[in-house]
Amino acid sequence: AYAPWRSPLAISLYLLLTFLVLFVIFWQYRSRQRIIKHTHDEILQSQQQTELALNSSKSGVWEVDIAAHWIKQQRLKHELGYKTLPQKFNFDDFCALIHPDDKRKVLHDWHLFITQKNAQQWQVTYRLQHANGNWLWYHDIGKVIETNEQGYPTRLAGIYTNITEQRATAQQAAVLGEAFSQINDWLLILDSQLTPFSVNNSFAEAFSIQTIPAKLELKRFLAALGKKQYVDFINILKSLQPKQNWRGDAYIKTKINPSHPIHISITAVAKDSNVVSYYVVVISDLTEQKRAENELRYLANYDPLTKLPNRSLMYQKISHAIKDADTHASLVALLFIDLDKFKPVNDSFGHAVGDQLLCDITYRMNSMLDKNAIVGRQSGDEFLLLIKNLDSPQSLSNLVRSLTEELAKRVVINDFAINISASVGVALYPFDADTTDELIRNADIAMMHAKQSGRNGFKFFTEQMNNQITQKLLLENALKDAYKDDLFFNNYQPIVNNKSKKIKGVELLMRWQHQAELISPAVFIPIAEETGLIDVLTEQALTRALEDLAPLFKANPRFYLSLNLSPVHILKSNLTERLLLILNQHHIKPVQLRLEITENTLLDDKNKAAKQLQALRNAGFKLLLDDFGTGYSSLTYLSQFPIDVIKIDQSFVRNIGQDSNNESIIKTIHTLAENLDLYCIAEGVETIEQIRFLNSIGCDDLQGYYFAKPTTAEILISDAYIQALLEKLQTT
Ligand code: C2E
Ligand code: CA
Ligand code: CA
Repeated sequence: AYAPWRSPLAISLYLLLTFLVLFVIFWQYRSRQRIIKHTHDEILQSQQQTELALNSSKSGVWEVDIAAHWIKQQRLKHELGYKTLPQKFNFDDFCALIHPDDKRKVLHDWHLFITQKNAQQWQVTYRLQHANGNWLWYHDIGKVIETNEQGYPTRLAGIYTNITEQRATAQQAAVLGEAFSQINDWLLILDSQLTPFSVNNSFAEAFSIQTIPAKLELKRFLAALGKKQYVDFINILKSLQPKQNWRGDAYIKTKINPSHPIHISITAVAKDSNVVSYYVVVISDLTEQKRAENELRYLANYDPLTKLPNRSLMYQKISHAIKDADTHASLVALLFIDLDKFKPVNDSFGHAVGDQLLCDITYRMNSMLDKNAIVGRQSGDEFLLLIKNLDSPQSLSNLVRSLTEELAKRVVINDFAINISASVGVALYPFDADTTDELIRNADIAMMHAKQSGRNGFKFFTEQMNNQITQKLLLENALKDAYKDDLFFNNYQPIVNNKSKKIKGVELLMRWQHQAELISPAVFIPIAEETGLIDVLTEQALTRALEDLAPLFKANPRFYLSLNLSPVHILKSNLTERLLLILNQHHIKPVQLRLEITENTLLDDKNKAAKQLQALRNAGFKLLLDDFGTGYSSLTYLSQFPIDVIKIDQSFVRNIGQDSNNESIIKTIHTLAENLDLYCIAEGVETIEQIRFLNSIGCDDLQGYYFAKPTTAEILISDAYIQALLEKLQTT
């Protein structure tokens, strides 16, 4: 018997109840735990997502406690390479990482922000230093998350973004943009629909385009291309495949130039896809380039002074004419025109006058010719005249004759009256030559012959001329070899005085033994002059003579050697020194050397010749004017040049006893020489009559076969020879 509250039933009920209560509590606890875990998981996931999102945009979070003076962030560790630094970091230490150029502004703005009531959003762009020293650009934004009672911010949180790459891209874009706008070429960018997207400054300027893009105004550019080019242009654009490029030349009309040569380059830009997104059109103005090209072409083909075709263009024209002549069975004539004595004109009147003379000649030639003739300038004072479509050689003669006559006319330039003439050589295609080179060469050869047979004339090319020239070329080479092999030798011809019956000196006459044949100095001296060998040949001969004649010099201190000097040689600047050197080496005085010069020496460059002769005279040499009387200005030279002796030319001596005029000339020359205090020698004396006449007028110094022919040194210095010569003198 239990009390009802203590009955087993009641106790069981109590237990059951307690168990139920405990179960409910446990169950509630469990479901709360579950919710918490779920929420936690969700938060974690969302945080991860945020972080992922932030990371992928190169961003992260930060937080600043203003009062506690710290900043918390992942950036230092994850992005800036400061592995050992804690997440929570002293704010001042953080500021030390800011780029010096940005720091002032950042701190200034920051100070303003945190001392501002109800401040909202913070943002800043600046650079931070990476642990490796590089600078990275960041853009930070943040919000106030806590304020004090007065409403001033105490805590901020936000996001940072690494914008280094964007900055670099933006900078590059800015530079490219600037370049694009400044570039001289005209740039035009069209979109895929061919609508203008952008143009650069010079494009806008050239086509007066005000706003960009401007479809309407672009039409102006297209219109400037002209209808045909416009259609082509559009077709090309449309046909371009992605990433393809097209280039071409065109003409365009602009404000300043009705026909601008341009170069167009079009590129179809396709970013990553296979669809064209833009067309970049680059247009280069070729005006300057074309002008320069034309100028170059002109310079390469025309002579700037006379505006005539130059050597190379003439060559082309001649070749062309030859081809034409072949097809039409016609003739081509080539005239090689060389001015006579142009150099003295240049030297005495100056190059300006020389230039004007060339222009004047060009003008006169051109005004005589018809459209079948072309004049070109070959070089200095040489011209070529090409005559095409000639039907007979006869019709040419008249032209050539009147041309030489015209060119021989006196011209007045700058008040100077100038006498000039031309030597003309003519060669005909196909008679005289097969090729252009040959035609020019043969015309040149004919010209040289015209010149040789006394200037101011013309000569038609003949095969014989060609042979002579070839012969000359052969000799030229042989001469060079002979010089090297020392194959020259000296002959000497005595000069005697018929009154004192003494040998006064000898003239040196050079000899060349070539292939068992003696070549005349009249032949090889001009070649030696042309090839530039004459100086060394003369020096060689002089050295030889001083050695050969040493006994004669020793026996008679007044005995002299007469040396022929070539005009070319006289104009060489170190002539005096060279001669003195050779004489010194042989202990011979300058008075024992006579230098024979001819008048043409003095013709070529009068001033220089006068200076040289004076220098020779000052050095103590005696100067002798050879072949006197044959040149037309001998008399005037005598007063202008320091001459000591004249040698009456053998052509006068030869005619003694046959031509009384001739005798008067000799008399006059002798009187003149006496009056001018000059010494006289007669050369080419062959007969006793000649000697008697010369003696009668007082000319006692004689040279000629009558007394002695030129002979070798060996014979000359032999006693027997000298004895014979003296005996001959006694009996004369
Ligand atoms: P040139 O200076 O008038 O020499 C005189 C020429 O007349 C020599 O001819 C000589 O042999 C020749 N002759 C001499 N007496 C008589 C004579 O009685 N009757 C005839 N008919 N002729 C006579 P060569 O040796 O043939 O020389 C010809 C020219 O070559 C020389 O004329 C001279 O201008 C030049 N020459 C010769 N040797 C040299 C030289 O070493 N240097 C230079 N620059 N020219 C030279
Ligand atoms: Ca001579
Ligand atoms: Ca002579």
